[in-house]
This record gives sequence, structure tokens and C-alpha cells, in this order.
Amino acid sequence: MVTATVPAQQVKIGPTQLLINNEWVESVSGRRFETINPATGETICTVAEADAPDVEKAVQAARAAFKGGEWPKMSATKRGELLYKLADLIEQNIDELARLETLDNGKPVHDSLGDLGLVIACYRYYAGWADKVQGKTIPINGPYFCYTRHEPVGVVGQIIPWNFPLLMQAWKLAPALATGNTVVMKTAEQTPLSALRVGELIIEAGFPPGVVNILSGYGPTAGAAISRHMDVDKVAFTGSTEVGHLIMEAAAKSNLKRVTLELGGKSPNIVFADADMDLAIEGVHQALFFNQGQCCCAGSRLFVEEKCYDEFVAKAVARAKRRTVGNPFDANTEQGPQVDKEQFDKVMGYIESGMREGAQMLCGGTQVGDRGFFIAPTVFADVRDDMKIAQEEIFGPVMSIIKFKDIDEVIQRANNTMYGLAAAVWTQDISKAHAIANNVRAGTVWVNCYDVFDAAAPFGGFKQSGIGRELGEYGLQQYTEIKTVTIKL
Ligand code: ADP
Repeated sequence: MVTATVPAQQVKIGPTQLLINNEWVESVSGRRFETINPATGETICTVAEADAPDVEKAVQAARAAFKGGEWPKMSATKRGELLYKLADLIEQNIDELARLETLDNGKPVHDSLGDLGLVIACYRYYAGWADKVQGKTIPINGPYFCYTRHEPVGVVGQIIPWNFPLLMQAWKLAPALATGNTVVMKTAEQTPLSALRVGELIIEAGFPPGVVNILSGYGPTAGAAISRHMDVDKVAFTGSTEVGHLIMEAAAKSNLKRVTLELGGKSPNIVFADADMDLAIEGVHQALFFNQGQCCCAGSRLFVEEKCYDEFVAKAVARAKRRTVGNPFDANTEQGPQVDKEQFDKVMGYIESGMREGAQMLCGGTQVGDRGFFIAPTVFADVRDDMKIAQEEIFGPVMSIIKFKDIDEVIQRANNTMYGLAAAVWTQDISKAHAIANNVRAGTVWVNCYDVFDAAAPFGGFKQSGIGRELGEYGLQQYTEIKTVTIKL
């Protein structure tokens, strides 16, 4: 394990103001906040801090762009071309964006590059959809001609998290713009920088003023102002289940804006004794530790069949001990720091609770280095379903291994949670794979793989993991209203 070092590379910092109506502006209050490099704990720079008055300005710009000017007149093909152009510009600046993402978020730079591959694919995927969104003709009774139109919802508020800043921006912006909406996006306060740089590229691509507005700021202020705003037609949110409840409540108490939510998870990852062991060991390792464990779909309840439990635990621990933690700008680093001090403390708190409740800690459990927010890959075995580390979202590099005996039991235990975002099964028996895929209540089930994402494949949660789907054609549907037109003949 290497220790944390300061990234030596020079990273170009992009804009640090708010993007409203294609102009870079300071916040109405003039306030700015610091964004921190999680590898060192040092301040990178300050960024303009949006609050309700800035949300107001951005919503007005978005409404004006939705109603008049170039955007509503623009052909769907041209909207697609703008999205293709944006994807090209991101590709041309991929290294710069990857470094900026790594500086602000802490993720290893090769992971930032991986995210950017998905970002570019997402913009291109929805660019292709722009001129293929169409209604139906419906043979109703009587002398009528009836058809449907898929129209944009209007002004869309989008609130995104810090774990995949550029990717979450793409998942939200691409379908909204392909279908002709205008957007007020609030980025996460921990990671404002990369989305603002994309804002520059959005202007360069040629999107008209007011179509995309990007605000940096905090949740309870700027975020809440978006979710309660009377002139925002929809809010799309990714973040914690707790805040998801607040967003829905604000939507209900204001104008019944449409809500899509992608929330937390505590995803079961089930290993049967007949699995290809080497594949499963590496798969469950990545499923949990990828992105410093900061994934809503992390395979954080690792159920291992009794028959192979001891061997599996030993191998999982050996793999975790080999994980390289350190400077995220180093090409050999697998794991960088947690995003900030708050997340670091929260994860360390869960590690303490695991020990207190009697789980067996087999490696990790400590800070790595003496600055920044690095945590050693941690593995707990003999975890019981009722322990806090098996129930709550840890969002850190902490693996919890739980023993099970048979398939019916594991399905029942896998479903015993308020979450339902993702699940996985490792087996060479197709019948077992099907039984898990059909009976686990989750929006995504991976079989002998994990974290396979594609712009065409929908993603979202059952139960309290969310409402609606992102990506694919299903994701597109969340950004249109259906209008029925009936003509008397
Ligand atoms: P996390 O705990 O992982 O930071 P959050 O759900 O708190 O996740 O944050 C996700 C996004 O939601 C961030 O952009 C954050 O600023 C925003 N947010 C937090 N609280 C609120 C709120 N009350 N209303 C709207 N947005 C919020």
C-alpha cells in the first residue's frame, strides 16, 4: 500500500461562477464557498454560492428559453447535432476533464477517464434519440382522428451528487435536452468544478442562452429552492433516500412538479459455491471497493454460501489487502480518498459500529497516511443481518460478508431491506441465476458481473431506492408529457 501524496500535476481549473443564460455571473449574495482537494485536505479554490435568488434568476432564464427564442423552434435533428457536438468537445478535452474530476472528487484518474467514456457515450446515445421521439396514432371509436405527441415537460430542475459528478450531469442533461426541455442544474457542493467546465463546452457547442443553467451551492438552500419552486415543472434528483423524501415533499407542497429519484441502496451480492471463484472474488471486490465504495449500487451486503464461506473470506481479504491506496493521480492507484471529512468520519463511524456489534474485522479499519481522507480497504466477516453495517448505506470501502445456507433463505434475506436498487449473483447454475434475477426486488440484477452500465440500459430503484428510471428509452420517457389530440372528421 502506498501512502497519499500530493498530485504533482498541474490541473487547469475552469470557471468558478454560476452559469445563467449563457453568462458567467457571481451569486446575488456575492458569497463564495471553498472546494477541497480530498487527497490533501487543502482548498483548491472558491466557487460562487447560489441560493434562492440565483435559482430564481436561473428559472426565469430557463422559462424564457423554453417559451421563446431559438430553442422551441429548433428542429429535433438540430438538438441532436448540438448534443453530438457537446460529446465531441468533451472527448477533445477528456484528459483535462479527467484531471479536474480527480482533483475535486479524489477518484483515481483512470476511473475518471472511465467515467468520461460513459459520459461521452451517454450524450451520443441521447443525441441519436432526439429526432426519434414520437407519439402514436390511436384508432378510437367514432369519426375522429386521434394521435399523441411527446412534448417536453418544460423547465427541469436537476440536483446531482458528488460521487460521479460528470456522469450524473450527463445522465440528467442528455435526455432532458434531447427532448427539448430547459434545465436548472445544481451540482453537489463537494464537487462543483467539472460540471462548470462542461458548462463552457455547452456554450461552445452552441446551445442557446437559458437552455442549460448550472448552479453551484448547498442542498438545503439552492437545492430546496429548486424543489419548491412554482415554475419548475419537474425535478430529477440523485442522492440520499433521506433527501429524496424532502424533494418529494417539496414537490407535493408546491406545484406537484414531476419527480424522478435515484436514491440509496444496500445491494445484495450473492455468491454460490458453484461460482467461478476467481471471477467472483475479483467481481465482488470491485462491486464494493470501486469509487472508494461511494456507489449507490455498491454490493454492500455480500452473501456467501456456507459451503465455500471460509475459503471465500480468506481470498476476499487477501484481495482487499492488495488494493493500492494513494495518490489518485498515480496510474497504479486503485483507491483514492473519500470525498470529504464528513464522509470520512461517517465511514469510520460505521467501522467502529461493526466492531462494537461483534463483526469480525479481518483487515483495514484505519486511516491511510496522515492527511487527506484515505481509508484502508476494510473487510468484516460474520456480519449478521441486524447489524448497522448490514442495514445502512456506508458509502465507503467497507465490505460486509454474511453467511447463507440455501437459495430460498438468501432471497428472503436479500429482500429484507427498504432499498431495491441493484443486486448480483455469482453462479454457474442458470436456474439459480434466474431464481435470483426474478425474485430479488431490485431495479438491476447482474449475473456473474457487476457495475455494467450502458447508456441504453435503464437504471433505477424499486422501493425506497427511487422512482422512475434513467438511461435508455425508459429514461427518455421521464422527460416528456404525453398530449392526446382528437380531431373530429
Ligand atoms: P450525500 O449525503 O451523499 O451528500 P445528499 O442527498 O445529501 O447526498 O446530496 C445529494 C444532492 O442533493 C447534493 O447536490 C445536495 O446538495 C442536494 N441536497 C441536499 N439536501 C437537499 C435538500 N434539502 N433539498 C434539495 N437538495 C438537497
